[in-house]
Amino acid sequence: MIADTPIADLPNFDLHMHSTASDGALSPTELVEMAAQSGVQMLSLTDHDTLAGLDEAAVAAGRHNMTFVPGVELTCRWGKRVIHLLGLGIDPLHPGWERYLGHLSSLRNSRAEKIATRLVAKGLPDDLLAQARALAGSGQIGRPHFARVLLSAGVVSSESEAFDRFLGQGKPGDVKAEWPDMQEAIAQVKASGGYAVLAHPTKYKLTFSRLRILVADMVNVGVDGFEIAYPGVSQEQIGLLMRLAEQHDLLVSSGSDFHTPQHRWTQLGRFPKVDTPRHLAYELVGER
Ligand code: AMP
Ligand code: MN
Ligand code: MN
Ligand code: MN
Repeated sequence: MIADTPIADLPNFDLHMHSTASDGALSPTELVEMAAQSGVQMLSLTDHDTLAGLDEAAVAAGRHNMTFVPGVELTCRWGKRVIHLLGLGIDPLHPGWERYLGHLSSLRNSRAEKIATRLVAKGLPDDLLAQARALAGSGQIGRPHFARVLLSAGVVSSESEAFDRFLGQGKPGDVKAEWPDMQEAIAQVKASGGYAVLAHPTKYKLTFSRLRILVADMVNVGVDGFEIAYPGVSQEQIGLLMRLAEQHDLLVSSGSDFHTPQHRWTQLGRFPKVDTPRHLAYELVGER
């Protein structure tokens, strides 16, 4: 689009973050306000499997003269693996969302019941499900809500300990669900006019050769790009990802994946800056 412009001349952007509509700690309004205070000028709210926070976030962004990009982070499957697909610049009113997200909601609700049953059988508090539901409120329930209950009950001393002992891969609370295939997720994002972007590619415990296969498979079903910059990614990984994007002529995106001010390693607007004409931010600015 305006690829001659250095990326630093674009509005300061953050294209991945969560609110109380899923597993974030701040309401959409609080989140947008904190982003504004952090100097963010263009943002996307990307809650897990829900669009419920978008209207409120858009209003708050308007009050601060920020560019708002409607987004979502879809849980989906590549073979047996769970991966996350961002939909950025989607149309929240596209009629396909209702059925697609309704299905994800029921998967999440029945998974939550199974998580609770398994963890209660391991001796954890009987009211685990009720507590996790209370924390999730009207938002999409996820494992972080269980982690927070265990933290406040004093069973663990951090959320990450809750994942290590109870909720992470291979632990009793890691309940499998029949998430839609990544091809369906990509198709829904594209149908609603959005960019389909693989989230945090180095966070799936894949070797780089497996990751190349994942990306090639996604390219075959229309993915637009992947995230290149997010907290925890190394400069070496950024270099490898950049070459992979060039090989497939893909867009790249960046975001903080912010969930809560309590996680000091994520701050709104904070992630490695990668100056490349392939950045999705150019397309998003150009659309407006
Ligand atoms: P779910 O969407 O229910 O499968 O839960 C996945 C979410 O849990 C991610 O989006 C993160 O917010 C959080 N998460 C995953 N792994 C960890 C971990 N090791 N420590 C803390 N939070 C985690
Ligand atoms: Mn999350
Ligand atoms: Mn994710
Ligand atoms: Mn995320």
